[in-house]
Amino acid sequence: MAVELHPEKYDFREYKEFHVNSIRFDQAVRNICTQNACGQYGKNHMCPPAIKDIREWEKEILSYKNAMIVTKVYQTKNKFDMKSMFEGIADFQKTLIRLKEDLADEFPDKRVLLLGAGSCFICKKCTYADGEPCRFPEKAFPSIEACGVDVMSLSKSAGVRYNNGENTVTYIGVVLY
Ligand code: SF4
Repeated sequence: MAVELHPEKYDFREYKEFHVNSIRFDQAVRNICTQNACGQYGKNHMCPPAIKDIREWEKEILSYKNAMIVTKVYQTKNKFDMKSMFEGIADFQKTLIRLKEDLADEFPDKRVLLLGAGSCFICKKCTYADGEPCRFPEKAFPSIEACGVDVMSLSKSAGVRYNNGENTVTYIGVVLY
């Protein structure tokens, strides 16, 4: 049985299928992680330098036949409203985890890969910094950017909005199946 996504179940703002070959990989995107603006570089199993290099991600991502880009939009008070942004990204990650769990239940024999936004938030404190293995490797997934993919370009080529207006933040994920 082929994997069928039901994106309408997850309250996404937009979802669109696109061709995996349209994904462009760029080491410069991955290098931005080393600036550690999010504070997660070297602290999370799903972030650099813990994850594979971008050539390995490229090989893995291009091994999938189907891809869908999904977005969710969250209101903020202003561009400094970190609280709303954090709550939004946490909700977005939870949505993607739910989608991943649903697909694993429905299609246990199929390969599915998710790419999200930001680092993995499943645990309060990631075990990476303590040198311990990931607690939930079947649930955790990296961000799109950590794999060396420019989200803005990808959203443009896939035909979804990267920016949904003033006082909003848009989070973008990719499902490969
Ligand atoms: S599931 Fe927990 S241990 Fe694994 S990457 Fe996410 S936060 Fe880290």
